[in-house]
Amino acid sequence: MKHRYLATLVVATITLLAPACSRDDDNLAPTYPAAWDAYATPPVTSDNRDPTSEGGRRYATLVPDPEAYFSTLSRLVLSTLYASPSDTINPVSALNIIVRDYDGAAGKSGYGTVVQIDISSRWLGKLTGTTDDIRRELEGVLVHELTHAYQLEPRGIPGYSQGNEFWAYIEGCADAVRLLAGYLDADDYLPDLERKKYLAGYSITGFFLAWLVQHKDPDFLRRFNQSTLHVTPWSFQGGVRHVLGPQSDIDQLWIEYQNSRK
Ligand SMILES: [Zn+2]
Repeated sequence: MKHRYLATLVVATITLLAPACSRDDDNLAPTYPAAWDAYATPPVTSDNRDPTSEGGRRYATLVPDPEAYFSTLSRLVLSTLYASPSDTINPVSALNIIVRDYDGAAGKSGYGTVVQIDISSRWLGKLTGTTDDIRRELEGVLVHELTHAYQLEPRGIPGYSQGNEFWAYIEGCADAVRLLAGYLDADDYLPDLERKKYLAGYSITGFFLAWLVQHKDPDFLRRFNQSTLHVTPWSFQGGVRHVLGPQSDIDQLWIEYQNSRK
């Protein structure tokens, strides 16, 4: 599911939707519930192949200790996606980071349990704003990519292909985690009443999923992730009903969400 991520505007306001996954504003380091300290995150390799470029220099400055940095971000993602370390968690045995010059922002690939995340030095070098703005944008994109490493995947339906339901789930959940972890602002989103827009992916799907967390069930995203283990063939409707009950209807929830944002 390697893809390009469209870098979003850096926003000044941090919307804290889930206190358990919030950020510590005093030192700006991501924080997560202490229960995740004991979870064994995978070993990390970091290969900066463009160290003399602006983006390569920024990466070296912002990520001086890749093992610690990615372990912390991994636990932030895991605590947003899972209720506890004893849940059924998608296993990751190794996390390989490559910083290189290419056209894009970042992408996740890999085979089996070995995950590779590419970071574009070209993209990182072009980000503007304060050092903290740039650090926050990088971390937000990495939270999105790390979600791909740890999230469960739908079963019984066609695999990841841009525009399909599997794709909307994968990319929507990744942006929902990014939002809930404090790296996107829901107020950036403009309402759109068009039917099936929850299948639009990325932030349009992600902000809807975050709204369901806020307004329907604080554990919605965690249970929605787990629904892939129980609902086959998986669908958004089936996933939502698994979490919120058989009487719930995703199209009705979408309309309620849209109306709440007018
Ligand atoms: Zn993605």
